Amino acid sequence: MPSALESLVKILKLEQQKACQDTAVIGGLKAFSETWKDQAVQQAKRPEHYILIDELVDLLHEYESIPTFDERYKSISYMLDRIMGREPAPEKYAARLASLTIEEKKPAPPPPAPKPRPEPVSPSPQQHQHHHASSSVGSDAALKKDWDDPEVNSHYKAPTPVTTASRLLRPPRERREISLDEALRNDKDLDQVISHIKGIGPKLAESFHALDLYTIRDALNYLPRRYDDYTRMLKISELKPFETVTVIGTVVFTQTRVSKNNRQDFFMTVEDGTGRLAVTFFNQYWLMSKIRKGSQISLRGKVTIFRDMLQMSNPEWEALDLDNLKENQIVPVYRLTESLKPRSFRRWMKQIVTDWADKLVDPLPLAMLERAELADLNWAVKQLHFPLSMEHLGHARRRYIFDQLLTLQLAILGNRREWQAQAAIPLMIEAADLQTFKEAVFDFELTSAQNRVVSEILGDFEKSIPMNRLIQGDVGSGKTAVALIALVVAFMNQKQAAMMAPTSILAEQHYRNLEKMLLNYPFEDKPRIALLTGSLNNAERQAIYEGLASGEIDIVVGTHALIQEGLVFKQLAVAVIDEQHRFGVEQRGALRGKGTNPHLLVMTATPIPRTLALTIHADLDLSVIDEKPPGRKAIRTKIYSPADREVLCDAIRREIYAGRQAFIVHPLVEASEGIDARSAIEAYEEFQQVFYQQRVCLLHGRMASTEKDEIMAAFANHKYDVMVTTSVAEVGVDVPNASVVMIEGANRFGLAQLHQFRGRVGRGEHQSYCFLIPDQMTVESTQRLQAMEKTEDGFELADLDWKMRGAGDLIGQKQSGRSIIQLMDEVLPDLVELSRQEALTLYAEDPDLVMEQHSILARRVDEIRQDQSDMS
Ligand code: ADP
Ligand code: MG
Repeated sequence: MPSALESLVKILKLEQQKACQDTAVIGGLKAFSETWKDQAVQQAKRPEHYILIDELVDLLHEYESIPTFDERYKSISYMLDRIMGREPAPEKYAARLASLTIEEKKPAPPPPAPKPRPEPVSPSPQQHQHHHASSSVGSDAALKKDWDDPEVNSHYKAPTPVTTASRLLRPPRERREISLDEALRNDKDLDQVISHIKGIGPKLAESFHALDLYTIRDALNYLPRRYDDYTRMLKISELKPFETVTVIGTVVFTQTRVSKNNRQDFFMTVEDGTGRLAVTFFNQYWLMSKIRKGSQISLRGKVTIFRDMLQMSNPEWEALDLDNLKENQIVPVYRLTESLKPRSFRRWMKQIVTDWADKLVDPLPLAMLERAELADLNWAVKQLHFPLSMEHLGHARRRYIFDQLLTLQLAILGNRREWQAQAAIPLMIEAADLQTFKEAVFDFELTSAQNRVVSEILGDFEKSIPMNRLIQGDVGSGKTAVALIALVVAFMNQKQAAMMAPTSILAEQHYRNLEKMLLNYPFEDKPRIALLTGSLNNAERQAIYEGLASGEIDIVVGTHALIQEGLVFKQLAVAVIDEQHRFGVEQRGALRGKGTNPHLLVMTATPIPRTLALTIHADLDLSVIDEKPPGRKAIRTKIYSPADREVLCDAIRREIYAGRQAFIVHPLVEASEGIDARSAIEAYEEFQQVFYQQRVCLLHGRMASTEKDEIMAAFANHKYDVMVTTSVAEVGVDVPNASVVMIEGANRFGLAQLHQFRGRVGRGEHQSYCFLIPDQMTVESTQRLQAMEKTEDGFELADLDWKMRGAGDLIGQKQSGRSIIQLMDEVLPDLVELSRQEALTLYAEDPDLVMEQHSILARRVDEIRQDQSDMS
């Protein structure tokens, strides 16, 4: 049983680890201090303890109002020092101690124990041991030590443990010394089918198959999608509206209700001794037979308030898993299908992990684990499923992600080597010709960043090694001009070039640009160009196919239509992919496959921090356009409260009257796209009324792509004034006339996304605006949105985003290869840097991974390479 102080120490340290955003406990430290105080007072044995409690409670109360990270960090360090006795009591509190009379110094009788929560949690003996083994926080922990003294403390029995987790500063490494052969034999056992496990028959195995789990290894690799930490479960009385939380309680009332439109809903009330929660499941009357009155249940969903009553609608639910709770206070929650019950699935997983995780063979050489301070694989896998504490989980995840990053990089590097072994066609252009060309076709001077990237590309072109270069440049940085030069250089060398864009309007836009530019082509022989999209009829398409095969067409711009089978080039020497983050690695490979080792140029407007870019694109050389064309007006960005919406709509109306257009971004609110589409439609209908004199259109992720294209084109042609949208990622197109973007629920988006949204405006000569309307402000979201106000530098924002939210927002699954990287949100800068160093070291030392200590790693890397043979 950890003491209250010990729990607090753990939470404070966690808070520091989580960047001091008041997120270490749900509800924040202030709220936590209330319950903590009760427990602490009961455990206090000496007057100093009461003083310390008072002081800590005061500090915890003040914490949320501390404005900066630094000060918050300091405050926590101070609290820790006080608890450990490293800091004396400040005068204010010390004085109070001195003024206490002898009488008062006697411990006050403990207040009546708070009503226990309905959660029959008790620490397992195993955890108990663990706690004792590692709970010595420091030898100078005078105050704390005597507080924790079991002798002195033996009279006390706490109602509920707050936490039993232990500190784990360094990840354990307990690798057994066995021969490689034996290890491999063990590992091979894991490829046995799931029904090999005792107790899993064919029927159950089928349920596993439905989750793509066929072998024991698959099951070990099947990670929980989240964990419910029962050590930090909120009581119903502590719930606040709009938070998404997990709560547990007893069902005290159930009912089916028929709504106005004849929908049959299931309704229940859940109680936990501190309060009641009303829960409605729309259209799910059949739950009546599943959820019984009196049963204990765990619910996860968003809390709302309706008629003064706490509510949840359609939460995730499951019967409370008592078995599991007894052993683990952090309960894994897996993604499951209907045929599997969470509780029994967990039990199977427990068995599988216990019996089999030790057989996994660790691909990483021990020396690397030591260097990188990483956990043992077997240990990590066990903790990923059934973590002893969030800290254990942290070490396990680190290890897991490191493996993925490392193998991915080695695979990409291997592919690059293979690919570059084949020669490419060198391409040249005279400096004078380039100058003439630029002066003739562009009605602007290239920025120095553009010129730099052009010369990087031309430098690659001269070699007979195929170029593989990524251009990162913020929206509006002028990537297209650079790409056009690359295309034309191919033509000047009597070769063909292709440029692929993710949507047909974008392809059309590039095509028109190219057409316009070539009007002023300064040399005799003009390139012949073509546009290839899915909307062409058979005859048109056939004509282009023939032109490409015969070499009559020099430059083609198009969509995915470019990588169809049957399309052949006479001699494709340069392939450009615009907005590459919208394509998968396979498509990149497919376009490259249309030539014999063409030079490849991929472009993206998603600024990815350099280290991350170098890692997930280990095969690409990186060019950055880090400068905008001159004369761009800054986009005026400002945070507003929802109460300002009317004023903002007026402002939008004024812009529209002045001839401009506006985007309104509606946030994704639910996990399910279906629900989101509905909520976007509702928002659209609402804005139709708000802007009843204007033309409003809607674009959302659920629409067919042709429909999206049509709407986007209509908006670009000013057939509409306002576009309501959820998925501005679809809007890669230039609408220079748009001058306002209003982002609702701005706190829900990552900075990279917000920056993309904002990039939709400010593309013409008009002063542009970005209104950010958060629906909830935490310290974290305030910090993020303020960064939006402060800077328009996409890289700076991406960097900040990465530090605050992990890499999930920055890289789509597509780019990183088929689900190669799981747990993207946990991919943090230091780990990426570490994996990159290790990958490069390893690659320099043993590029073909032939050394014995790399043999298992070599297999993993091969598997990935086979899985993505088109990668790079
Ligand atoms: P992105 O990098 O987002 O693809 P674009 O290539 O579409 O940006 O360029 C955005 C706009 O800036 C275009 O209208 C383009 O003509 C213009 N532009 C590009 N380079 C320059 C420059 N050096 N000076 C002035 N305008 C430029
Ligand atoms: Mg572009």
